Amino acid sequence: MPSLVDPFGRSITYLRVSITDRCDFRCRYCMAEDTTFVPRRDLLTLEEIDRVCTAFVARGVRKIRITGGEPLVRRDVMTLFRSLSRHLDSGDLGELALTTNGSQLARHARELADNGVKRVNVSLDTLDRARFKEITRQDRLADVMEGIAAAKAAGLAIKINKVAFGRYEDGEFDSMLRWCGEEGFDLTLIEAMPLGEEGGPPGGGYLPLSEVRGRLSENWTLTDVPETTGGPARYVRVAETGRKLGFITPLSSHFCDGCNRVRLTCTGTLFMCLGQEDSVDLRAPLRAGEGDGLLGEAIDRAVARKPKGHEFASDPASGRPVVGRHMNLTGG
Ligand code: SAM
Ligand code: SF4
Repeated sequence: MPSLVDPFGRSITYLRVSITDRCDFRCRYCMAEDTTFVPRRDLLTLEEIDRVCTAFVARGVRKIRITGGEPLVRRDVMTLFRSLSRHLDSGDLGELALTTNGSQLARHARELADNGVKRVNVSLDTLDRARFKEITRQDRLADVMEGIAAAKAAGLAIKINKVAFGRYEDGEFDSMLRWCGEEGFDLTLIEAMPLGEEGGPPGGGYLPLSEVRGRLSENWTLTDVPETTGGPARYVRVAETGRKLGFITPLSSHFCDGCNRVRLTCTGTLFMCLGQEDSVDLRAPLRAGEGDGLLGEAIDRAVARKPKGHEFASDPASGRPVVGRHMNLTGG
């Protein structure tokens, strides 16, 4: 079958899949406390998600990242990892990855590793219990730390994702960088996106990563790593810890030329660009029959419409770009 190449000559090799919009946390920058979730009948079943992933793998996708909402709260989630691992075994898929808040990692880490997952991204904004509770609205830092320890013990490589907000002076960036160095984890800082009507994060506003990088380099030796993943991340090596530090600026468009990814929501909507509203429904063709002919046609239609780059609308009040969808739906 022909591989997926968009109108700008970019090969689509990376699929991000949000398998649920539900979550056991309510991070203030991501979800409202009383979020209404998608009715269960509208969610793709795990079998349907496997069918979509398999169709993409057959068309040359080499990397799949499972995300959410919190992917590990989805019932029977391990059956999905188990079934997708057959593509790792065959060599058709190069990497099966996971982004998680870590709350359920303690009970799943071993099985994830057994199913071929090599690395997990764990979102953790702070090492301080009170601050963690303030941000996530849950007093569960201990569960996350236990999950991270279990993942480490299972041999999974760990990258910590931290959204950049607050006040630099609070020392949180330095303490997180130090801790990651001690534990052997990479760290990625994410520039916060004002999403939907969720307003801002607690304790100070969003921090531009250019500012954070400038402040960090007063205390740490940061050397550029000439590496790109086709995504919005730039990496440096931290001489003092030997670990990598990434900066993700999802709203900048410097990376669009090399974009290799598309995103599937838990309801089967395929977004071709995080910064654009255009989408293609894959659920109807999936449910139209047993065969995957219609699904394949819908995927082709989608890739043919992948836009050249971001076009974020601006919020008139702040002047900052706004994406209407919530991260738990598109998966960040
Ligand atoms: N629940 C999982 C987690 O927290 O890792 C996976 C889904 S979460 C939506 C994926 C990533 O999006 C997390 O690293 C989270 O910090 C990030 N995120 C959520 N809201 C964001 C926002 N407004 N701006 C930037 N990143 C955001
Ligand atoms: Fe849940 Fe992740 Fe959103 Fe936090 S960022 S509310 S953990 S989906």
